Amino acid sequence: CGIVGYVGDRKITDVVLDGLRRLEYRGYDSAGIALVAKSDAADTRLEVEKRAGKLANLEAALRERDLDLDFGCGIGHTRWATHGVPSDRNAHPHLSADGRIALIHNGIIENFGQLRAELESAGIEFLSDTDTEVAAHLLGREYGVDGDLTAAMTRVCGRLEGAFTLLAVAADDPDTVVGARRNSPLVVGLGEGEYFLGSDVAAFIAYTTEAIELGQDQIVTISREGGVVVSGFDGSPSEGKPFSVDWDIAA
Ligand code: GLU
Repeated sequence: CGIVGYVGDRKITDVVLDGLRRLEYRGYDSAGIALVAKSDAADTRLEVEKRAGKLANLEAALRERDLDLDFGCGIGHTRWATHGVPSDRNAHPHLSADGRIALIHNGIIENFGQLRAELESAGIEFLSDTDTEVAAHLLGREYGVDGDLTAAMTRVCGRLEGAFTLLAVAADDPDTVVGARRNSPLVVGLGEGEYFLGSDVAAFIAYTTEAIELGQDQIVTISREGGVVVSGFDGSPSEGKPFSVDWDIAA
């Protein structure tokens, strides 16, 4: 029910958890986070933790992990279950079959049944009962084609029906978070050399009041190097609508 993404030089876990805390008012039954480590030396560059229940459960699980890696970007999710009971397993993020992609989703993917059958007959094993997991597997497959997360997300969105805000990160790219939206909100927060994504400006008002509202059927890529790049589901270059968050709301 809430979505946060961040790329920048602040401590990634702090920014993502703070964003999730500010979205708690929307209600949720589970929470999760995915972090991409900068260091090539790390065995696992994609760290995922997710828990049913309050954010405190996720925070406790993260403390036990004692993650001392240097992370480059991250995404966080609070879930309001629509498909699959609230549980650790069904909490987001969901991973692609090869474990290289982590994806979070707000909304409902209407044609997930058909997509799941297709993926299962191609040998993919599902680990959750959510509608969301099909998007993680599709994105993993498409990312495998050309290693371009934005292009992969564009191809995946062309296959999804329903309402969705999606964010994804890739294990081998600590500098990029890709988002997409249809019939569900997504806003970008603009900082100095740092960028935020949120289902609502509350996710990043602690850090910036400069924002961009994405339009229907748009994809956004945030990266330290490339800044903010918006395109349509057809792959054509596009733009969102810039605005400043009212300080009354921010306070
Ligand atoms: N439909 C997805 C699920 O049940 C996402 C729900 C949400 O918006 O949090 O896992």
